[in-house]
Amino acid sequence: MKVFKFGGASVNSADAVRNMAQIVQCHIESEPLVVVVSAMGKTTNLLEKLVPWAAKAGEAEVLRQQLEDYHRSIASALMPDNKDIQQKIDDLLTDLDTLCDTLPADAEHYNYNYDQVVSHGELLSTTIIADYLNNLGINTLWADARQLIKTDSHYREGRVDWSATEKEIKNLELRIKNSYHVVLTQGFIGGTADGHTTTLGREGSDYSAAILAYCLEAESVTIWKDVPGFLNADPKFFTDTVKISQIPYNEAIELAYYGASVIHPKTVKPIQNKNIPLYIRSFITPDSEGSSVGNYHTISPETPLYIFKNDQILLSILPRDYSFIAEDNLQVIFGLLNELGIRVNLMQNSALSFSICVDNHPQRIGVLIERLKSMFRVRYNENLQLITIRYYTQAVIDHIVAGRPILLEQRSRTTEQIIVPCK
Ligand code: ASP
Ligand code: MG
Repeated sequence: MKVFKFGGASVNSADAVRNMAQIVQCHIESEPLVVVVSAMGKTTNLLEKLVPWAAKAGEAEVLRQQLEDYHRSIASALMPDNKDIQQKIDDLLTDLDTLCDTLPADAEHYNYNYDQVVSHGELLSTTIIADYLNNLGINTLWADARQLIKTDSHYREGRVDWSATEKEIKNLELRIKNSYHVVLTQGFIGGTADGHTTTLGREGSDYSAAILAYCLEAESVTIWKDVPGFLNADPKFFTDTVKISQIPYNEAIELAYYGASVIHPKTVKPIQNKNIPLYIRSFITPDSEGSSVGNYHTISPETPLYIFKNDQILLSILPRDYSFIAEDNLQVIFGLLNELGIRVNLMQNSALSFSICVDNHPQRIGVLIERLKSMFRVRYNENLQLITIRYYTQAVIDHIVAGRPILLEQRSRTTEQIIVPCK
């Protein structure tokens, strides 16, 4: 079996869904095709603003109406005569409204609320697309990811219970053999053993596709994107991008870890374990070749790879009593980072200070600085850019830094990381 994943941008309008359906149609084989779909367009961002406690009165009503108009108009453009689909949308929206009105609107329940509400993006998109595929004569089963991908109750970052998930997905496999062209399911969402909805973290649909592929021992996973494949830099930051045709699994893991946004960091490991190739292809030019991640020794073509992270903050943490930064201090600092869920993008220590570069997430960083200040002296620089270059040369570094002062630099044989002020 093959697994396809379509992200929000590939289904953000009626035309986009038509295009996606055409790609699916071209790949129907004797075995069902497993298709994982995200929420349409920027729906997840919108839904985040409806979550009780975070929602602002007034704004929430406008957004709720936008959500409804957006999905209804896509559904009616795709299936003008289908009343059923409007009723299904109605049911999902009624369920969403009930949740928004009744979930306890406090900080303590926020993560739980988030998953119950935000999951409706994927439920809406897959409900509409499954009906549309069936209308086209593509025999499609809508499968509920909450019953397939089983997680613990770590809301907003559900951790997969692999044995329960494998059991559910194997059961599904038995049910679908020879009966469907397509099994369509939601990316990003899962469920606990006691039936609560969870999510796998933002942009987690790639990971969903990888989990399904792992459990099905799939032949391949294809992620359909708005770029021609795995590029050596984000085209938002870079004009002369080069497409990388072949990427070793470990290289893809490293790149995702450093922040390459083309694949979700957790995606590669499960499929690497089963040696399943991962293809990244363009839904805009679906006949072109794209990139493949697999059992290669080196990237091809060999070229420097760039990852830019903007809006970084560099914190320097110094003991109050002018003593050294030692393991006991580090233990306290890491305990705090772990407690607040802050990921360190780069760190460096000297005798007298410990520096960390983190995403400038205003809420969490404010708390971090406050808490650190009760024990240490803290200095920080904001509005920085973290640049990672794999397979660098000095000329490449000089070009990218473009005369900016370097606040911190780390170099290994393959990777250069630099922190500079944003341009
Ligand atoms: N819809 C989710 C998000 O936007 C999951 C995904 O797109 O992968 O984060
Ligand atoms: Mg997305």
